[in-house]
Amino acid sequence: MDRQEAILRELNLYPQWVRRDVPAREAVTTVGAIHESPLRNWPELKETVRGCTACRLRAGCTQTVFGVGDEQADWLFVGEGPGADEDVKGEPFVGEAGKLLDNMLLAIKLKRGKNVYITNVVKCRPPVDGSGKQLPPKPDEIATCLPYLQRQIELIQPKLIVALGKVASDALLTGKEATLASLRGTLHDYHGIPLIVTYHPAYLLRSPSEKARAWQDLCLAVKFMADKSA
Ligand code: SF4
Repeated sequence: MDRQEAILRELNLYPQWVRRDVPAREAVTTVGAIHESPLRNWPELKETVRGCTACRLRAGCTQTVFGVGDEQADWLFVGEGPGADEDVKGEPFVGEAGKLLDNMLLAIKLKRGKNVYITNVVKCRPPVDGSGKQLPPKPDEIATCLPYLQRQIELIQPKLIVALGKVASDALLTGKEATLASLRGTLHDYHGIPLIVTYHPAYLLRSPSEKARAWQDLCLAVKFMADKSA
């Protein structure tokens, strides 16, 4: 059993699903100006996020969690918001969901920090409910924080965005009121950048039977990137 197969077995994704062909996407256009942002470069953007208190989430978190990885990456993965582990460490996807995301990356021969950038829609940890369950960010919190993600995307100019979960897909595909399931399996457009939708790793931990579908989505992403570079 080779390493790839071992990882896929670990993910409960073996034997591999074979994806049906989809048309290759046409050339990606350059990212347009999303909004007139005064945040022109990475240091300024990072500093601004670090000191941000623009919404109520900042009062309940330890620190802002900006993002991690290659700032000129072809691949951008966008999650929902920091959880408890991320809040402590200041890095996205470092808990159990992060381990699964790292394994998903390995399964498609990618690695955190190498041609990959990882971030979230909101940069501060949302609160938990009475049972300790992490709550999703509220619409006004998302709206307040979204310009930071938009500016990250402008600076990175990735070749592909992978939206992890409904919060990320809703935030990036505004106007598409649809279930996550209906958004899967196709290439969407975010201001000229192709975007695919898949499940959030935290959801996959709760619903491991969906890992096969997540693998389908990753195959779609890999196929797109291979077609693009061919
Ligand atoms: Fe600022 Fe975003 Fe944190 Fe709200 S979640 S305080 S907008 S960085």
